[in-house]
Amino acid sequence: MSTDLPSIAHWIGGRRHPAPTVRTGDVFDPAIGSVAARVALASDEDVDAAVASAAEAAAAWGETSLAARNAVLFSVRERLATRVDELAAIITSEHGKVLSDSAGEIKRGLEVVEYACGLAALLQGAHTENASTAVDVHSVHQPLGVVGVISPFNFPVMVPLWFVPMAIACGNAVVLKPSEKDPSAAVFLAQLFSEAGLPDGVFNVVHGDKSAVQRLLAHPDVAAISFVGSTPVARSVYEIGTSHGKRVQALGGAKNHMVVLPDADLDNAADAAVSAGFGSAGERCMAVSVIVAVGPVGDELVSKITDRVAQIHVGDGRHTDSEMGPLITAEHRDKVAGYLDAGVAAGAELVVDGREHAVEGEGFWLGPSLLDHVSTDMSAYTEEIFGPVLSVVRVDTFEEALALVNANPYGNGTAIFTADGGAARQYQRRVQVGMVGVNVPIPVPVSSYSFGGWKDSLFGDTHAYGPHGVHFFTRTKVVTTRWLDPGQRGVNLGFPQNT
Ligand code: NAD
Repeated sequence: MSTDLPSIAHWIGGRRHPAPTVRTGDVFDPAIGSVAARVALASDEDVDAAVASAAEAAAAWGETSLAARNAVLFSVRERLATRVDELAAIITSEHGKVLSDSAGEIKRGLEVVEYACGLAALLQGAHTENASTAVDVHSVHQPLGVVGVISPFNFPVMVPLWFVPMAIACGNAVVLKPSEKDPSAAVFLAQLFSEAGLPDGVFNVVHGDKSAVQRLLAHPDVAAISFVGSTPVARSVYEIGTSHGKRVQALGGAKNHMVVLPDADLDNAADAAVSAGFGSAGERCMAVSVIVAVGPVGDELVSKITDRVAQIHVGDGRHTDSEMGPLITAEHRDKVAGYLDAGVAAGAELVVDGREHAVEGEGFWLGPSLLDHVSTDMSAYTEEIFGPVLSVVRVDTFEEALALVNANPYGNGTAIFTADGGAARQYQRRVQVGMVGVNVPIPVPVSSYSFGGWKDSLFGDTHAYGPHGVHFFTRTKVVTTRWLDPGQRGVNLGFPQNT
């Protein structure tokens, strides 16, 4: 059986790279629950081949005019926009999320391609005439060379597109190491960039696991690493990458709180909680994981959420009536379900048990679950569940809610639901979280801002895409110029002063 499975190869130097890989990984169809393909897991030689290809291409690409780079990015934009359904089907078959959600992540990724299409303006430097006598100063943004991008399973298109278009627009070459759990979308993207006219070697894909990441982190020809994944791995990638002298941004996990104040429209809040808690089966870094019910709203809010959860249709993401698909693996499904038992054992109330949700087939199913009366010492609260479980924590006051969110080690996203503008303003000013929504449950910034959390949700100080993307993928050089008149010459050993 296994020999008939399709094999997913690396993409190096503008073509499939069917390396004589001895190691492979299983790629599942999570809605069917069986292995659908095998993916090559890169050896050190495979990673070295990808970096060498990128290094060779980077030299010429960095010298390519902005107009020519722009033409490629515009073509990428046009091609991708016409192939959303095709790519969405690939995502859904390996990740499991419903097709509309797969299309949604592609469209958010497309927004970054569109932003990168403005590269001529983004890469403009500054010029100061006559900064000192007869001295002019200007700054330029130059590419880094080869950059590595390492992405998680949950957004196999959007997360690579947070970085790859920006890196390429800035004149770099990329080696992308996607998640080995859903690797096909990355190859689709690389092929599409190639069809759009990107020179061979500017965008390479190596598949693999920890060992491929280690090789990239230690490779002397890789200048920078953009990583997205869980917090323990993000922390280690940051530490190892920087110890090798690389520029690193490592985005980690999350525990996103949605605070509901007593004056909130509770129907609106319940809609938002269910949408943001259970969309993509909760496998989003910006998913709402904890509802912080303030004052008397708890019982009514839990009741409204419970009514909505019962209506959710869980099923194969390829079926148009499915609203929520399976989890990525059986192991992950079991781990998520374990938090329900642990929560009950610790005293929480399991209001909705997703294991009882009716679903057909052998996929990695877990229906939406709701835990009430969760306290901050329970594992359902302290750990990132990354699945379809909403926990409700009840507090008495706004100040208690704010203190609770700020005491959490993560700081990716948060939302407040209220009709009180003053309270919302207090919250957004004082909360220790990188992305804040006011009556918006998933506040992923538009592409002209930058995406990133605080505290254990991001290691490094640069966020993804937007202005931070340009900053991360370029080095700034400042040029000071003087054209002396003949009468102004002379030796002066003093430290240059501006006059
Ligand atoms: P993960 O950390 O297991 O894997 C992420 C990437 O790192 C993958 O490419 C994987 O192959 C590689 N990897 C895994 N273990 C490694 C190790 N020990 N050393 C080096 N590399 C390793 O994450 P995941 O399960 O694929 O994705 C889910 C996680 O990603 C969640 O924690 C989620 O919150 C996080 N995430 C964060 C953001 C964000 O923007 N902050 C966005 C999406 C996902």
